[in-house]
Amino acid sequence: AMTGLIEGIEKFDSPGKGRGLRVTKAFKVGELLFSSPPYSYVLSVEERGNYCEFCFTRKEGLARCGKCKKAFYCNAKCQKGDWAMHKLECSAMNAFGENWCPSDTTRLVARILAKKVGLNMKKKVFLNCFNQVLFFNNNMSNVLIPNQKMMKERCVSEKMLLIEELQSHLEDEDNEKRERTDTDIAALHRFYPKHLELPDHKDLLTLYSQVACNGFTIEDDELSHIGTAVYPDVALINHSCLPSVIVTYNGTSAEVRAVQDMKPGDEVLISYIDLLYPTDDRNNRLRECYYFTCDCLECKTKSKDKAKLKIRKQSDPVEPHVVDNMIRYARNTVREFRALKHSLEKMGAVFDDSNVYMLHMMYQAMGVCIYMQDADGAIRYGEKILKPYSKLYPPYSLNVSSMYLKMGRIYINMDRNSEGTSALKKAMAIMEVAHGKNHPFLKDLRKEIGQK
Ligand code: SAM
Repeated sequence: AMTGLIEGIEKFDSPGKGRGLRVTKAFKVGELLFSSPPYSYVLSVEERGNYCEFCFTRKEGLARCGKCKKAFYCNAKCQKGDWAMHKLECSAMNAFGENWCPSDTTRLVARILAKKVGLNMKKKVFLNCFNQVLFFNNNMSNVLIPNQKMMKERCVSEKMLLIEELQSHLEDEDNEKRERTDTDIAALHRFYPKHLELPDHKDLLTLYSQVACNGFTIEDDELSHIGTAVYPDVALINHSCLPSVIVTYNGTSAEVRAVQDMKPGDEVLISYIDLLYPTDDRNNRLRECYYFTCDCLECKTKSKDKAKLKIRKQSDPVEPHVVDNMIRYARNTVREFRALKHSLEKMGAVFDDSNVYMLHMMYQAMGVCIYMQDADGAIRYGEKILKPYSKLYPPYSLNVSSMYLKMGRIYINMDRNSEGTSALKKAMAIMEVAHGKNHPFLKDLRKEIGQK
């Protein structure tokens, strides 16, 4: 066939894993197997202004789109390059204002659909004009496969797999997932009506399912999420917890490099998940998001699980059921922690930092910082909390005095003595009224201040 157009790499049927990629020649650690531009991509709303929407260059002083004032570019060339995609959102963002809120997945899906329409139009024009099969274009490879899928031309990110051919797990999805996709599709209809003729619901469900198990998040060097993209060729790579390659991003392109020496015939394997966690956690995640259970050597031997679940040294060994219960407890806590971050962001979008519900959350966060002995973190929250606290509580309040005490002691611990004594004195003023001047707490406090 005419596929398999990347030197040294080929598509194959990987037993038990569906389609996969393998190498046909040797690759050394660090060597580039291949790179792929995205089929479609989108910059996260949170990163607007930090990166060029078109080429994902990170720099200060990007120029903004004069119409929506929300998209930022290196220069007019990048802006022009992005217009075919940005126009899907530019005027809608103005029209909907604050209410414009499609998910990143929906924004990506809109771009995939718009690109398909664009490609079909080009094909028609092209076939009408020349009535032949080859054509050349900046974005497109010159490869056309006659008689395949209505002679669909491949773009450069589809050398081995067409976007339509991405694996879908629509049949495996539960009601909860289906409902979330329905919400996304409703948003697609709401925010993207003008430029897109949307396919029917069933086709959209399939596309969302394909994006869910084949999409990539583009990350920066600190692994902060900056965008979402589809790379059909890269999406052929199956998962292993002992991966042979790593995907990194250069601008919007994905680059696949060996992290193990590979010999001809070896399957190309990446990790889909955070490999920090023990085998059960990893496979729960893989089943939840990708509908398979991993059978790599690490999943079979679980060789790192013991170190990953290390138990505190104690005179009596801990019973296995105690450990099991604690693991369950820890997993819940992790979930709640993630929810906490989400709620903070959600509340912060509407509430001022001095709102009591924000104060409550920051107070909890400060407690965590103190527990983790993160003095800077604790101070940062404390400083945000104190002013509104003293305004919102009555003039003499133990909540306020205790907050001043905590802060004063942290400051002094950090050798920020003048800030420390000032906070302790504020605590003292309240406590002299509330506890009485002769209370032992106040004697201690006078000593604490006197020593500084
Ligand atoms: N095999 C896929 C195909 O034919 O399109 C390519 C990888 S796709 C990004 C992800 C899907 O591949 C998963 O949802 C799962 O169905 C399958 N897969 C990936 N790694 C696997 C593995 N280690 N074992 C079994 N199935 C795997």
